[in-house]
Amino acid sequence: MAIDTAEFVSPRTLREALDIRATGSHTVLAGGTDFYPARVGKPLTEPVLDITKIADLRGISRTDDGFRIGALTTWSDIMAADLPSGFDGLKKSAARVGGIQIQNVGTIAGNLCNASPAADGVPPLLTLDASVELSSVGATRVLPLSDFLVGYRETALRSDELVTAILVPSSLANASSEFLKLGARTYLVISIAMVAVAIAFDELGEAQRVRVAIGACSPVAQRAHQLEADLVGRRGDLGALVTREHLNILSPIDDVRAAATDRLDAALHMVQRAIRNCLQ
Ligand SMILES: Cc1cc2nc3c(=O)[nH]c(=O)nc-3n(C[C@H](O)[C@H](O)[C@H](O)COP(=O)(O)OP(=O)(O)OC[C@H]3O[C@@H](n4cnc5c(N)ncnc54)[C@H](O)[C@@H]3O)c2cc1C
Repeated sequence: MAIDTAEFVSPRTLREALDIRATGSHTVLAGGTDFYPARVGKPLTEPVLDITKIADLRGISRTDDGFRIGALTTWSDIMAADLPSGFDGLKKSAARVGGIQIQNVGTIAGNLCNASPAADGVPPLLTLDASVELSSVGATRVLPLSDFLVGYRETALRSDELVTAILVPSSLANASSEFLKLGARTYLVISIAMVAVAIAFDELGEAQRVRVAIGACSPVAQRAHQLEADLVGRRGDLGALVTREHLNILSPIDDVRAAATDRLDAALHMVQRAIRNCLQ
């Protein structure tokens, strides 16, 4: 990758980074695993704000009402973290992002900001009711992830903002959770479809809180709200209650990886299986 006339800055503090970001002229660089592939064959001429030296943005901590995942937390960090069962789905998604080299540098915020329909981190974070913390000079706002992702490769991020953290409330932290990804092979593959489920059961085995999200089958990963509502208060084989109508929220496309109809078939079976896996 040729670096031509580009200005390349690597501040060590968030304050410095936000001051630079306030100019609105710099493109943000984190792990670079989406940034550089998008620029192959093109000289880098835009000013770049490399945020990887801001240590405070990396790591997972507990807060009064849940968990704070720093923007620069890598997929490998997530896999290694000591987290309750509600995060099992997120950990499984981390293990399926690219391969080990990608997991070591690719960050959770980079995955969300790139806003690919096939971003593996999105469905499990939707099932955890995650929010995105956006910081600019003198201001911080928090958006539910579903409001942050506004369309195909489109987010609500402003040009003066950085994503500083992903916030996860404790409400589903102890749920049973699962993530399934269908691809042409196990590693280094873009998802044909992926499914995340989180279910909190009561002591009688009745589903109390249910979250189901499906990715790579619409411009933005979708929560299956009707299915979730239909499963609350139910027990036994919840997978058997999933119908094709529950997936009417999806709008898959035909592409080189799969036909739309195959994606829908796969999504149905994966939702059923993911729910059954949560029961075990
Ligand atoms: C070989 C390969 C395989 C891959 N496989 C998968 C896969 O299986 N599943 C998957 O989901 N993805 C995959 N990816 C995509 C990528 O690895 C992930 O999306 C990763 O999480 C991106 O993080 P990053 O830190 O590298 O982001 P970067 O490339 O640094 O940035 C991505 C985008 O987000 C912006 N950005 C980054 N951080 C911030 C921030 N804190 N605030 C504001 N803007 C920010 C950047 O400006 C850029 O637009 C793959 C990539 C490669 C090269």
